[in-house]
Formats: sequence, structure tokens, C-alpha cells
Amino acid sequence: MPALAAQPIVYDFVSPSTIVFGWGRRVEVGRLASRIARRAFVVCGSRTLEQSGLPQQFDNLLRQAGVEPIHVPRPASHEPEVSDVDNLTRWLIDRGATDSDCLIAVGGGSTIDLAKAAAALATNSAGVPPSGGSSDRLKPGLQPTSVREFLEGVGSGRTITRPPLPLIAIPTTAGTGSEATKNAVISSYDPPFKKSLRSDLMLPRVVLVDPELTVSVPPHITAWTGMDAITQLIESYVSCRSQPIPRTLAMQGLELAIPAVVEAVRDGSSRSARERMSHAALLSGLSLANSGLGLAHGVAAALGSCAKVPHGLACAVMLRVALRVNRSVCTESFASLAPAITNRTHASTDTAADAVVARIDELCHDLGIPRRLSELGVRPDQIPDLVAGSHGNSLSGNPREISDAELRETLEQMF
Ligand SMILES: [Zn+2]
Repeated sequence: MPALAAQPIVYDFVSPSTIVFGWGRRVEVGRLASRIARRAFVVCGSRTLEQSGLPQQFDNLLRQAGVEPIHVPRPASHEPEVSDVDNLTRWLIDRGATDSDCLIAVGGGSTIDLAKAAAALATNSAGVPPSGGSSDRLKPGLQPTSVREFLEGVGSGRTITRPPLPLIAIPTTAGTGSEATKNAVISSYDPPFKKSLRSDLMLPRVVLVDPELTVSVPPHITAWTGMDAITQLIESYVSCRSQPIPRTLAMQGLELAIPAVVEAVRDGSSRSARERMSHAALLSGLSLANSGLGLAHGVAAALGSCAKVPHGLACAVMLRVALRVNRSVCTESFASLAPAITNRTHASTDTAADAVVARIDELCHDLGIPRRLSELGVRPDQIPDLVAGSHGNSLSGNPREISDAELRETLEQMF
């Protein structure tokens, strides 16, 4: 990547309207919701959080602020599928949800993506009033158009044109950055695909990040989600659609996350490690929403839809490979990331770029990330499906083109 000073500076940057970050700040949910809604549909994606009494605490805080809480039936604890989004959309429409209501999504990336997609479909798929205008009441009882019609690559080309129901995103893991992105990743297993519903309109209205909510995340999920954030920070930085503001954010995110992810895995109660990881994950979401991703995320989507490999684990496994595949065209960009990733200076751009690849390798080793696709339950005969399923928005951001033959060979070497 040429130095910024040598390039014309032209960019768009989108982000949520309000970001509230801090340990214990979940108690501000009522104040934040009362600014935008009279009723709040609360989507809580975690049984652990449900058992911790958090929904009851939110109910009290919302009522005190004059907002009526309505609990959405707890979603299935998997990455959202087409039917999950369609069911929640119908549920919201049947309750007459309008833009004077809001959704509050409390959970990991899966929960936030589910809420984000249903919030968009509830105003775009059915019940569109003849007079137009998003404030008109939607019509209960209407069958919503399936989210599948709106998905990139597999849909019928329908797009999100109306503002979704306002969304307050409250992440309980530090990884996907979904709280700050404009897409929701939706899966199907028959036929298998993992594709995005995407629109600038889908950015959450409010993001409330309370790192204390991540303290109960077990070590292996902390490792996988943390590596997802690190992959997003690196891939958005080296993407062929890379942008100036996200580049700055990615540097800070990596500097914090590289040491903090190991600390958070070792000691889940470490306030400082959890804060740094939650902040880095948020920055990774802001970065990827504006700059795109690359090879690791392209293949991770296929690993998810073809072999149900959890997203963070798939990213962690593929990051090392993506760095090697891109090394030859990324000397400058890897070298500029070296101070943040390796925490030291290097004699030349080449040694700095190599040090980045080696440091990520070491980090994956320390976190016990597998190297082989067979360790993820993937079979060699799935390679053609993996190659086909890797194409999409993420892969198109990779800093160099990867042919199907090269991708097939790369995956074969992982057995
Ligand atoms: Zn990701």
C-alpha cells in the first residue's frame, strides 16, 4: 500500500449514531432507549445471561425510563438461519412494531445479526403502507417476504430501501464487531450458503458496549471471538478497499488486542483484558464495515455453511494461511502493521512483514488454534464446495485475486 500522503484522499465513513462504552454501563440502557422508543423488543441470545438476571435488570431499567419492555422468544443458539430471521420478522410485524419502537439485541454476533436482519425485514418485506413513509403502522398478519430474497449472491436482488426498526446493540462477546457493522450474516444448510444482508441503513442506532458482560465467556470462545476481531482488523487494513479512518482504528485495535486476547483467555475476570478486547472488537466492526475483508473471511463463510465450523474458529484457522498467501503483495502494509502486532521495530520492510506473519503464527499456537481442516471435521471431498462457497463480498476485498485453482490447492495443503 503506498503511503497515504502519496494518494488522493477520498472516502465515505459510516458508523452507528451513538456509541456508549464502559465497564458497568449497561445500566444506561433505559436512558438510551427512552430517547428513541416507547416500546423495546428485547432479544436476549444467551441462556447464561438470561439466568444471570440481566433481562430482569433491563426490564426494571427500561420501565423506570418509561419504555415498555417486550421479550422476544429466545432465539436458537446458532448462527442465524433464513427461517430464524423470517420467524422473528413475522413475530415483530404481528405485534405491530413501528419505528417508534426499538429492538434491543443482547448477545454475541449471532444474536445481533438476527436482530439486525429482522429489524430491516420488518420494514422492508411486508406491510408497506400504500402512502409510503416508514412511520406508518405495519400490518399484522401479513406474510413477510423471506430474507433470502434480499441476500447478496443468492437473493432475487431485493434491497433494503426503508430505514429498519431502530436497534440498540449490546454485545456480550468481544469479536464479531457486529454491533458496528451494516450487514447481517445469514446461513442456510440446504442448499448451503452463508451470505450477507447489507445496507448502510442497517447500522445500529445505538451501540452500548459493557465489557463486564463478557466476563462469563469461556476461554475457548474468548480465543475464537478474539481471533475473529484480530482477523477483521488485519483484513480490513490490507483490503483492496482499505480506507484512511479504518486504517487508523485497526492499528489501535491490534496494538490492544494482540496481548489482551491471551490475557483474557488465561484470566477471564481481568477487567483490563476484557476492556481492551471489547474495544478492539468494536474497532474491528467499524473497520470492516467501511473497508471490507479478505481471503480468511471468504473461506470462513464456506467453512460455516459446508461444515458448520464456528465463525471465529474458522477465521482463526484461515488467518495464518491468508497472511502467507497475501505476503508477496502486502510487504508495505504488513510492515506498517508490524509495530502494533510485534511491539518492536524492524531493520527493513521485508523483515517487518515476515515478523507479522510469524507473530500471528505464534499467537495462534499459544491459543491452541488448529492448523488442519481435518481437525475442524472437514473432509477432503468438501473442497469443491468450499471453493465455490468462498466467493462473495469478503473474498472480493482480498488484496490480490485468488483463482479457484489456487484456492483449491491452498485448501488441499491444509489436510
Ligand atoms: Zn468475522
